[in-house]
This record gives sequence, C-alpha cells and structure tokens, in this order.
Amino acid sequence: MSSDELQERYERALPVAEFASYTRTALGGHGFEPGNCLALVGVCRDEMMFPAEQALHDVWGSAFDMSSLGGMVFLGRSGLSAAGAHAPGADGRRRFIHIVMPHIGLAADGTVGELLRGGQAELSTACGALVNVQRELAGGALNLALDPDDLEMSLLRSTFADHLPSNGTVLDLVALTDLARTIATNEVVRLSRALLASKTADVALSQRS
Ligand SMILES: [Zn+2]
Repeated sequence: MSSDELQERYERALPVAEFASYTRTALGGHGFEPGNCLALVGVCRDEMMFPAEQALHDVWGSAFDMSSLGGMVFLGRSGLSAAGAHAPGADGRRRFIHIVMPHIGLAADGTVGELLRGGQAELSTACGALVNVQRELAGGALNLALDPDDLEMSLLRSTFADHLPSNGTVLDLVALTDLARTIATNEVVRLSRALLASKTADVALSQRS
C-alpha cells in the first residue's frame, strides 16, 4: 500500500519519524529536551517495530525498554522503579517520556493484520500475538492457564480476559489492538504512581484524544 493510499485510509496516520519529531515539538514547551529526560518505550518484540524505536531513539536518545509481546507492559514495579532511577535530573527535575505502541500489519492489498516480511514469499501475521488472542476469542475461549514455557502469552491472555466486553462481543483485530493500547497505557500510568506524585518528577504520556 502506497503512503498516499495509507493516508487516505487512515488520515491520522503518521510516519514514525514524524511522530518522533512531533513528540519533541509537543514536549519542548514543557521542559523536555533531549539530554534532560529518559524515554520509556514499550512496543511488541517484533523486529518490524525496530524502526519505530529507532526513530524515538534518534530524537530522545537510548530508551528504557518496556517491550513485551503484543505491546503489553509487563515490566512491573521493579522495572518502573529501575527506570525511575535512570533519568538525568541534573537541574533538580527528573523527566520521563512514556510511549507505548502496539502494532498491526497492513499488507499491500489492504489486508489488515498481515504483512510481507523481507526475504519471505508469504504474508505473515502482525501482531502475531494479538492475532492469536483474537483467533482464540473467535473460537470461543481464551486459554487462561499459566504456561511457564510461554509466560508473556499467558500474561497477555489473562490481562485481556479482565478487559473484554462483558456482553461477550468478540472484538476484531483492530478493536483488540486498540484495547491493547488502552491496557498498556493504563498499566504504565498505574505503575508510575510514585513518579506522578513526586514534586521533582515530570512524566509525559501519549494518549489518543
Ligand atoms: Zn507483535
């Protein structure tokens, strides 16, 4: 799909470099500058997300990694606590930029949830973790057993189970991906309570209007 077609279909879509540049512009008026803050970035583990991470690193420097399968935030209190001690703070304020970005594939023919990876002849799913969850939901039930050999997928399923529509509606992949964004955003806010309460810390968080 060409960038023009993409823009026509998703008028609010931004190339990742433009999004990264936007964060710089938007936060510059609030004291956030490269070198005086720490970005915390959570995306899916899929290598296709590396350009998105790289674009943010290009603007803000190396980020603290919150990534997990499906773009979920599973680093917990210990992970956030570690990041809390890593921000620069030379001027007496610690500044944090929280960014979470689940992903979704879009094939050249417009198929949602699939893409063609470099060197491959067949389309594959993206986000594969979220596609698996959606297929399980469409099949009737999520497997909520904690599998020690599949911890992140187990956590992903159980986290979604707590946030699905109570009327039993099966979400499509787009809606499920949006729910992943909401869940991940809420989790990073929940884990950041101490930073948000601190009088010497500033926290920036992207939330869709
Ligand atoms: Zn993924």
